[in-house]
Amino acid sequence: MDPLVAAIDQGTSSTRFLVFNAKTAELMSQHQVEIKQSFPKEGWVEEDPKEIMQSIYECMERTCEKLRLLNIDISNIKALGVTNQRETTLVWDKETGEPLYNAIVWLDLRTQSTVESLINKSPGKSKNHLKHKTGLPISTYFSAVKLRWLLDNVEEVQQAVLSQRALFGTVDSWIIWCLTGGNNGGVHCTDVSNASRTMLFNIHSMDWDPELCRYFDVPMEVLPTVRSSSEIYGWMRSGSLAGVPISGCLGDQSAALVGQMCLREGQSKNTYGTGCFMLRNTGTKPMMSDHGLLTTVAYKLGKDEPACYALEGSIAIAGAVVCWLKDNLGIVQSSSEIEKLAAAAGTSHGCYFVPAFSGLYAPYWEPSARGIICGLTQFTNRNHLAFAALEAVCFQTREILDAMNQDSGVPLTELQVDGGMTSNRLLMQLQADILCIPVVRPTMSETTALGAAMAAGAAEGVGVWSLSPSHLPHVTSEKYEPQINPDESEFRYARWKKAVQRSMNWET
Ligand code: ADP
Repeated sequence: MDPLVAAIDQGTSSTRFLVFNAKTAELMSQHQVEIKQSFPKEGWVEEDPKEIMQSIYECMERTCEKLRLLNIDISNIKALGVTNQRETTLVWDKETGEPLYNAIVWLDLRTQSTVESLINKSPGKSKNHLKHKTGLPISTYFSAVKLRWLLDNVEEVQQAVLSQRALFGTVDSWIIWCLTGGNNGGVHCTDVSNASRTMLFNIHSMDWDPELCRYFDVPMEVLPTVRSSSEIYGWMRSGSLAGVPISGCLGDQSAALVGQMCLREGQSKNTYGTGCFMLRNTGTKPMMSDHGLLTTVAYKLGKDEPACYALEGSIAIAGAVVCWLKDNLGIVQSSSEIEKLAAAAGTSHGCYFVPAFSGLYAPYWEPSARGIICGLTQFTNRNHLAFAALEAVCFQTREILDAMNQDSGVPLTELQVDGGMTSNRLLMQLQADILCIPVVRPTMSETTALGAAMAAGAAEGVGVWSLSPSHLPHVTSEKYEPQINPDESEFRYARWKKAVQRSMNWET
């Protein structure tokens, strides 16, 4: 039997556990559990850290049961990788193992006034004041301001910091700490890709930056140790996989980049989940954007390997707009149903939907933008609205692609895609039409988990997965070619841009 490698994919909307064959990359079995998001106040988004861990244990045990039913011996699982929603911020008590507040999810807007006052205080009132060190604009999106909020507003957190019991982490740190023993010897670490999303990490020196920590007034002793994305951090302490090394850790977008085999400079992918994230591998040197993109650490695949960087275009709301149509308007019963509605319309009939629910991320970074639907007529119905929602995801991607082409000077000729939304074929065709280039989707859609498994399997001391270009597994894919006239595409895109301008500065 070939060696197997497992991956935990802890996303914003669900947790998955998957097991891959390390020789062929074949997906052997998996289990998925939805995660509840709570919205306690307008703009606030939280998740329960304990529910996150329960979902992981449930997915892990159910997957092991499925493997046993397939007569696959789970002792063939040689390593486990973790990939996670990034930026989401937690603080817990290392003595009791208890979370001290809910996880504040990346989309959360509660820090908007803090962000505005930080920007107003910075020289030239620039949101890019810390970009030279972090690659990021000052925004509600990243962890530092969320941690600041917890330190300012949650008494339990303040007490725990004073008595040196507080640990901060993004979701990867929480998961690895819990799985390696929690308050009974758990390992408190993160990897460079996750660390680079906190705004406390210097992407050049590749370590926590004392000056950034002073800027956000964050005590450095609460921070996890920063490790590479592929090395043994610790071993599973309990459950069916007790004793298996945890040896891969990558933020979800980095994992998707690896899982799409974009390991060479210039290669890109776009992942459509709750949000949408396009990353372009820029090799071992960080490239700063002049067009509103982020510079981020993509991965460091081994202690002694160089770090690779990426340019990133982040879109806050993609699949989340489909959830909104389902949960808030009730016009569909399930996310997949939107395809039927949009197909029935075949057009938005001039309706444009800018889902700036959490402000606008790249390339605008405008926290005061709010969602709008415009171009409505008596004729507009829910099918047109469904179409406009899908089209919004495609237009937002077009804006990112344009920025990326301008920054790199090399236009992309084809877009590799993945993520939960890519099962929607109408969306994929619409995307090719709006970008005017082909869109390529792997037939095995669990790219993010595959990337985490590859990092785990390749770690020193595990060595069951080779990442050398000649050994990368072959993946089959389907391709969507543009089918509409580029003039038509440009016309619709220009209208979209007009709609975006109308969504701006709503809250100011
Ligand atoms: P995440 O990793 O952010 O949790 P996933 O990659 O699991 O996200 O994708 C889930 C998102 O994709 C949800 O927001 C859901 O609404 C959306 N989605 C899933 N299937 C479809 C579909 N067929 N059409 C449109 N959106 C979909």
